[in-house]
Amino acid sequence: MDCIFCKIANKEIEKKFIYEDDEVMVFPDIHPAKPVHLLVIPKKHVPEFSQVEDPVLFQKLFVIAQNMVKREGLEDKGYRITINGGGAQVVNHLHVHVMGPLTKTAAL
Ligand code: 5GP
Ligand code: ZN
Repeated sequence: MDCIFCKIANKEIEKKFIYEDDEVMVFPDIHPAKPVHLLVIPKKHVPEFSQVEDPVLFQKLFVIAQNMVKREGLEDKGYRITINGGGAQVVNHLHVHVMGPLTKTAAL
């Protein structure tokens, strides 16, 4: 399958991970929107949020996203956790954006 995040997951494309376990990988976004912009990604190909079948995957992704917030010292600096889906995403392999620092924002 021609999926960039699958190729990174199976090491077809070399990438330095910030965090990695059997199921999840984390690396910086190639076009950071904020000084910290990490992608928390399941290694298994899940096309998008609405197609997650195992709720335990949500737990894993969010616990790791929380760890990244702490690791980057964003707890009190403003951060945003984003999942784009339903066609708003560019890459059709589920990923959670962790971005910061940022200031208070009105509703988007
Ligand atoms: P989406 O709009 O799908 O939620 O976000 C996809 C993100 O993946 C974008 O922010 C884009 O910069 C990032 N991205 C796409 N290809 C690569 C890549 O090969 N390496 C990295 N590190 N980030 C990528
Ligand atoms: Zn994939």
